[in-house]
Amino acid sequence: MNREPLLIALDGPVGAGKSSLADEVARRLGILHLDTGAMYRAVGLAALRAGIDPRNEEAVCALVAAGGARVDVRFEGGRQTTLLGGEAVDDFIRTQQAGSAGSAVSRYACVRGYLVERQQQLARSLSMIVDGRDIGTVVLPEAKAKIFLSASPEVRAQRRWRQLLASGTQATLQDVLAELISRDRQDSERALNPLRQAEDAVPLDTGALSFDESVEAILTIVRKAYDK
Ligand code: C5P
Repeated sequence: MNREPLLIALDGPVGAGKSSLADEVARRLGILHLDTGAMYRAVGLAALRAGIDPRNEEAVCALVAAGGARVDVRFEGGRQTTLLGGEAVDDFIRTQQAGSAGSAVSRYACVRGYLVERQQQLARSLSMIVDGRDIGTVVLPEAKAKIFLSASPEVRAQRRWRQLLASGTQATLQDVLAELISRDRQDSERALNPLRQAEDAVPLDTGALSFDESVEAILTIVRKAYDK
């Protein structure tokens, strides 16, 4: 592969494996992985900490405008640290509550405008794989390699459920599936930057693939895009 900066957009629904696949692809290519969902979760967390209902657009936007939800990202040893008002919040944004709050605030123009600009600044000069919902369509439409991941809701719910159990969190498969279907609906039906496959993205259904096979499939798509 040649030496121009690599820019890879990886989009897909919740539980499609974006984050862990992007981590491994980044490691294999020696580039960074920017997890944009972490940034929405951080704004959601800011609202919760300020005692604001994440569904209250006016209050969330007032908080953002007042600088009460300042999100930064740092890379240390290749790994992303997500900062809220200068504090590393990676340990607090992985809860279901922060995920739902992140999903709620991601519908607001004041939040999307702020975070999309931050994401574009971060990706301007570095080689990166960026994962999210609107990377290929809105954040980095110029990315040469775009992949749109999918898998059935049942497969994604199974994966997420196993992860939760492995991390010691009690949950039923039914509840995980219901939450995932509701997040899918919120992400793809929102008016602003909905989850959508870019016209020039390559679809990749990971349902029948192992983790390693999915990594290889992504690397093949990236090589093809950059060897053109
Ligand atoms: O990917 P993750 O589940 O961490 O994302 C949290 C929430 O942030 C998602 O439910 C989604 O609504 C939102 N999001 C978004 N655009 C992105 C990344 C995440 O709207 N680029």
